Amino acid sequence: MLSVKNISFSYSEVLAIDAISFDVKEGEVLALLGESGSGKSTLLKLIYGVLDVDFGLISWKNQEILGPKNKLIAGPEFMKYVTQEFDLMPFTSVAENIGVHLSSFYPLEKKQRTDELLGVVGLSRFAAVNVQFLSGGQKQRVALAKALARAPEVILLDEPFSHIDSFKKRPLRRRIFKYLKSKKIACVVATHDKNDVLSFADNILVIQDGRALASAPPEVLFKNPQHPSVAAFFSEHSCVDGDIYYAHQIKLASKGPVKARVVKSYFKGGNFLVEAAYKGELLFFEHDISIAPGSLVFLSLDKSA
Ligand code: ADP
Ligand code: MG
Repeated sequence: MLSVKNISFSYSEVLAIDAISFDVKEGEVLALLGESGSGKSTLLKLIYGVLDVDFGLISWKNQEILGPKNKLIAGPEFMKYVTQEFDLMPFTSVAENIGVHLSSFYPLEKKQRTDELLGVVGLSRFAAVNVQFLSGGQKQRVALAKALARAPEVILLDEPFSHIDSFKKRPLRRRIFKYLKSKKIACVVATHDKNDVLSFADNILVIQDGRALASAPPEVLFKNPQHPSVAAFFSEHSCVDGDIYYAHQIKLASKGPVKARVVKSYFKGGNFLVEAAYKGELLFFEHDISIAPGSLVFLSLDKSA
């Protein structure tokens, strides 16, 4: 188990991580969900031992993970960290980059392993291409494959799909997380995109300004976000009379507790997102067709929807 106990860290005067705790068991995925600047990358650097904690303790299987004060080369053997900067050899082929940590003593195994990973990240056709000629998204996929090459026990992923086009991202995400589960690799993934985590994380830790704002499995957190800043990650939401509702939980009604004036309807493909003013605030609800601006509507609220 990866255990993070009550850790705090400051960059000189700025408190970046404030008393954060969590556990990640073998083969589990923990998502760190937070806005840019909330402390996700700092947290990953602390876990990997690039930075020293000011307070608290980080351990894997009851063995403390040491920072630079106590360990010259960051990163335990069993752990891999895919940073937001990839760290690849540009003048070397995709296949060589992926296999760089694999032993050349067993060329056949090395080739099989590299081929398997090329498949996982969808780069089989690019095996012989030098990394310098790849797009940002392709480089990101090489970095992922390279980190997986020697099946670590723990992998830390910092916004791992941020450079990848959305139509490639969806199947890639499924393959990567399936792969992690099949090899029982524990994963901590930092992201601000709910799509990276809702279907794949065992637990989500929402962080804001270096503090833990909420922590729960995806379904529990989605159904009961507790805080508007948590709901904001998942979907368009509104605070109505002190309660949080997603747009799909507010519906047009013949009469109802809420009487609002429509401001604008936004086409969303399957339906429209309608923006309306209520008690001086804006709220959002879904509807099959657009509604003319200025229309007065009654709305019903249903959390179980
Ligand atoms: P995230 O990855 O969630 O975007 P970071 O962990 O990169 O957040 O940053 C958290 C906070 O720490 C931010 O306020 C950021 O400006 C600050 N920070 C990050 N790196 C440094 C640094 N090297 N020196 C000083 N402040 C930093
Ligand atoms: Mg970051």
